[in-house]
Amino acid sequence: MQSGQFRRAAVAAVFVALAGAVLVRVVLPANSEAAKAPRARVDQARLDNAPSEPQNWMTYGGDYAEQRFSRLAQVTKDNVSKLGLAWSFEFDSNRGQEATPLVVDGVMYVSTAWSRVFALDARTGQELWRFDPKVDASRAIVGCCDVVNRGVAVWKGKVYVGTFDGRLIAIDAATGKPVWSVQTTDNSKPYTITGAPRVFKDKVIIGNGGAEYGVRGYVTAYDAASGKQAWRFYTVPGDPANGPDHAASDPMMATASKTWFGSAWHQSGGGGTVWDSIVYDPELNQLYIGVGNGSPWNRKVRSEGKGDNLFLASIVALDPDTGAYRWHYQATPGDSYDFTSAQQMTLATLKIAGVPRKVLMQAPKNGFFYVLDRTTGKLISAKNFTQVTWADGVDLATGRPNFTQNAFFDEGPKMILPSSFGAHNWHPMSFSPQTGLVYLPVMQRAVVYTQDPSFKFVKDRYNFAQSFLPPAANAPKVSAGLIAWDPVAQKEVWRVRQPESWAGGALSTAGGLVFAGNAHGEFSAFGDRDGARLWTFKQPSAIMAGPISYSIGGVQYVAVIAGAGGGQSLMIRDVGRPQQAQPFGRMLVFKLGGTAKLPNVNLTLPPANPPEEAFAPAQVAAGAGVFYQQCVFCHGGSVLPDLRRSGALADRRAWNQIVIGGALTANGMVSFAKWITPEDAEAVRAYMAAEARKLKAEDAVRGGEPG
Ligand code: CA
Repeated sequence: MQSGQFRRAAVAAVFVALAGAVLVRVVLPANSEAAKAPRARVDQARLDNAPSEPQNWMTYGGDYAEQRFSRLAQVTKDNVSKLGLAWSFEFDSNRGQEATPLVVDGVMYVSTAWSRVFALDARTGQELWRFDPKVDASRAIVGCCDVVNRGVAVWKGKVYVGTFDGRLIAIDAATGKPVWSVQTTDNSKPYTITGAPRVFKDKVIIGNGGAEYGVRGYVTAYDAASGKQAWRFYTVPGDPANGPDHAASDPMMATASKTWFGSAWHQSGGGGTVWDSIVYDPELNQLYIGVGNGSPWNRKVRSEGKGDNLFLASIVALDPDTGAYRWHYQATPGDSYDFTSAQQMTLATLKIAGVPRKVLMQAPKNGFFYVLDRTTGKLISAKNFTQVTWADGVDLATGRPNFTQNAFFDEGPKMILPSSFGAHNWHPMSFSPQTGLVYLPVMQRAVVYTQDPSFKFVKDRYNFAQSFLPPAANAPKVSAGLIAWDPVAQKEVWRVRQPESWAGGALSTAGGLVFAGNAHGEFSAFGDRDGARLWTFKQPSAIMAGPISYSIGGVQYVAVIAGAGGGQSLMIRDVGRPQQAQPFGRMLVFKLGGTAKLPNVNLTLPPANPPEEAFAPAQVAAGAGVFYQQCVFCHGGSVLPDLRRSGALADRRAWNQIVIGGALTANGMVSFAKWITPEDAEAVRAYMAAEARKLKAEDAVRGGEPG
C-alpha cells in the first residue's frame, strides 16, 4: 500500500469511528512498513455499519442487507458520459468469471475461475499477491456450470474463499498465504463450491452445489479464526439407515421427512444445495439460506410423485449462533423444474399499506418476485416478473403457488416457462433505497420437459430423471433484459432489452445510475428512474457479474469483472455475432476522465478441422446421440473448445488419448472411459467430423473468417 493511500485509509477509519462504529484501529506510520500492514481489518462493527463506509465494498452484496447500492454520488447522470477506464487487470484463465470483488481500505480482493484469489491495489490495479488453491482439475466434470467462483469474504485480516473442490480456505490478507483450510464436502460425492462465503460474529459460513449430479445439501459455519466447525444444517433428510446427523438440523428432520416418499432419493442425496445466497440479518439476529432444486429433478422418480420435499426450493431462516431452524418459506413445493430458491435475497424495510415492514425480497428461478415478512417468514406478496406457464399466481393465504395443468409432464411433454435456466439466476440484483426499485437481470428460455422412462442413476453424471425437447417453433423467443421492479406495488416500472439470453448483474448508485453488463461485452449505465442508456463501454468478453463502486482519495471508481461462463455459456453457443475465442477474464475499473486502454488480445479461432476420412452415416448418427448425452453440456458453447475446430479431430489416436485416455485431465477434461466406450468416442469424432465439414463450408462462404 502506498503511503498516500495509507493516510486515506486512516482518514476513512476516522470517518467510520465518527459514524458510530466501535473500532480499535492501530495507526501505523505512513512509511514502507505500511506495505506489510495488516489488511482487511473488517469486523462486526464495520460490517454492521457498511453503508456508512461507501468508499469500501466489504461484503459480497455491499452490505449485510445485500442491497448492492452504492452511496457514492460523484458519478451522476450528468457526468457519466465522461466515465473512462481507470485501469484493467488481466487474469490467467479464459474460464467463466462471476465474482463480485471486495474493496477494503484501498485494496481489492477478487476470486476468479478455478477459485484463485487476487489482491490488487484498487487505485492502480497493481498486483499485491495472488493465491492459487490448486483445485483438482478432475473435479471440473462434476460441476454443471464451469469452474466459476462468485466471491470472497473478509474478516479481521483474513480473506476467505470456497474452492471448487470443496475446501474453505482462510488467507492472510497482507501476504496472500493460507492460514487454515478445511474440507467442507465429501469428495467421494459430486460436491462443488462456487458461492461466496459470508462472515458474521466470528463465524464464516459456506454452502455447496451438486444437486444436478446427486448430493445432499447443507451449510456449515466455522470459527473464522481457527476453521473449527461451529454447526452444520442439512436442508433435506438423509437416508434413515445412516442414523441421525448430529447436526443443527436434526430436530427439524422428522418434520421434513414427512414430506418425502419412497427411497429413490437416498442414492441421489435429495439435493437442496445452498450454492449461492446466504444472508445474515443483524437487525433480527437471523440467517437466511436459499435452498436449491431436488436430486434428481423429477419428483415422480425422487419422491413417488408426491410430497413438498422440504426444504427444496425454499428460503430457510436459522439462528446464526447455533444453526437452529427458525422458519421457512417454500416457493416451489415438490419442485421438478430446477426452480432453485438459491437466488439473491435482499433485505429492506418497505412501507407496505402504510406500515414499515422488515422484508426479504427474492426473485428466484421460478419467475415470481417474492416479498416476505422476514420476522415471521410469512408471504406479503408475490407476482410474476416474466411469462410463467407452470403457475397462474401465488395464494397469499397459504403462500403456495397455483399450479396449472401445464406444470405436470407426467402425461406428456410440457413447455415450461421459465425453465431451469431461470427467469433470474445468480446474476446479482440491486435495490436502491433512493428510488425504492429493484434492478433485476431477467431472462427467458423455454424448455420442454418430459419423462425419462429409461432413467438409471449414474455416479458423477447429470441425473435429471427427465428429458428435454427443443421448444416448438411458436414458443416464446429467447430473450433477456434488465428490469426496474417496484417491490411494493409488485409491478414493472421500466425494462431494457439485453442481447441474447442473459443479462449481467446490477449495481445502483446514489448518483441516480444503474450499472449492468451483458452477453455482448457491453457495460452500461442507465438512468435509475427511466432506464435511459447514458453510457456504454464495450470489450470482447461478456460481462455477467455484479459491479461494485468504491472510492479512494476522493475519486469514485466503478468496477466489474468480465468473462463469460456458467451453464449457458458452456452449453449454448452465442448467436447474432461473429464467433471468437474467449479472452482471459479481466477486471475493469472506471473513473471520470479515465483514459486507460485495454491490451490487444488475439481472438482468432482455429479453423474448422475435418479429417479426410469418410464415416458411415450410422456412425455419425450414433455419435450425435453420444454427443448430446455426454459432451454438449461443456462443448456446446463458447467457453470450452469447439470440437469442430479441435486439433485432435483429424487424429483418431490423439482423440482416443484425450476422450478415453484422459490426456487433458489437467485442463479438466477427464477420461470418459467410465461412461462411454472407445467406439462411442470414435462415433463422436465421426459426428464432429461431419459438423466440421459443414462449418468449413460456412466459413468459406464468409470469406474464411470464423462466423
Ligand atoms: Ca440446479
